[in-house]
Amino acid sequence: MKELIIKYRKIIISIIIIFLSIFLYSNKPYSLYDINYLQKINKKSAENSKDFYLDKMKKTINNNDSIEKKIFYVKKNQNLGYILEKVGIQTPNKILEKKKNNCLYNIYVNDKITIESKGKKLYSIERKNNSISCIYKTEDNSIKKVNKNLEADQDIEQYIFFNNIDNSFYKSALKSGLSPNEIMSLADIFGWDIDFSLEIRKGDSFGVVIDRRFLGEKYIGSDIKYAVFKNKKKVIEAYRYKKKYYNFKGVSLQKQFLKAPVDFYRISSHFNKKRLHPIFKTARPHLGTDYAAPKGTPVYSTGDGTIIYKGRKGGYGNTIIVKHGNIYSTLYAHFSKYKKGTYVGKKVKQKEIIGYVGSTGYATGPHVHYEFRVRGIHKNVLKIKFKKGKRLNKKTINKMKSIHQKNIPIYLWLNKTM
Ligand SMILES: [Zn+2]
Repeated sequence: MKELIIKYRKIIISIIIIFLSIFLYSNKPYSLYDINYLQKINKKSAENSKDFYLDKMKKTINNNDSIEKKIFYVKKNQNLGYILEKVGIQTPNKILEKKKNNCLYNIYVNDKITIESKGKKLYSIERKNNSISCIYKTEDNSIKKVNKNLEADQDIEQYIFFNNIDNSFYKSALKSGLSPNEIMSLADIFGWDIDFSLEIRKGDSFGVVIDRRFLGEKYIGSDIKYAVFKNKKKVIEAYRYKKKYYNFKGVSLQKQFLKAPVDFYRISSHFNKKRLHPIFKTARPHLGTDYAAPKGTPVYSTGDGTIIYKGRKGGYGNTIIVKHGNIYSTLYAHFSKYKKGTYVGKKVKQKEIIGYVGSTGYATGPHVHYEFRVRGIHKNVLKIKFKKGKRLNKKTINKMKSIHQKNIPIYLWLNKTM
């Protein structure tokens, strides 16, 4: 045996090196797009994504043909000649002409100047600020105003985040790289389908494709382009279209009722299946759902409707009942305070605040007791079949799909991987 090992020493070492380099190399492409992964990725999806991203890289390199791009932000007492001199490029005569349409003649502090060149050979100079976008091209020795919109000034970077949920959706999302604001947006997108405080189970997972917008170096916001949530029972996808979210068939995720009357991140007991009502539990069956949250947390109506009850109601304490159409109503109890301006007969919108968490009535701690009622009788919301969200027309569905077309391989990859 020993002899064998010595004999094949070189081969064994090379095999180890090959495996090691495959392992290291296969990890590499993910950093290209800042993909955050906290779980092992199987070899096949790694290969697919690697090809995909390498291909994408190759294309961008070919397009630019190794043109160098340099970006400057104009400082006090600087003009274009000064900036070009820094890069070692002579200022084109066209730019020195004092003419009405020469939008490169005068430049202002904080304007963004992008210079494309190969060594001393100039290709283009671009000037951008909130109201002007203007470009000079050596190719045809001309200066052109491009457009005047704000969007053009923003740099957009696409990121992909995903993770399994261990014990808290919020923590898992934070770990994946999402910011607190982005996590709230994500919860809002699925707020009609998932109760993030009660329905999340260990092993559920989520994935997000997000555009982060930058103005120069400054982060100015982000938009979730696509999101997917995998729950034991269901997989829900969300495609962004005109600031709203739809499934792939073009059905809106917005529905008549939100799952919960409080924002999930305010809820104190996420995985606690034991409810708060020892009094009710022993004396009579507990109807409804309790969301424990700090006193003063805003409580909102889960659907559009009209307030039909406001006042003290025995063990419920300060209570509001909202009627939604002819058969449904929702009840919210134990308020510490009502929202100013609420009264019986007032029309409320979905997610409009109606009161604040408290512990009036029979309550051992601050929480909102929420009941969903059908013809006045409490029903388990999970068992009611609601109408589906509105569906886009065919033309609009195609528009939505065309916006996402180039991202579909990324979504597929994400779904396979998460
Ligand atoms: Zn309760």
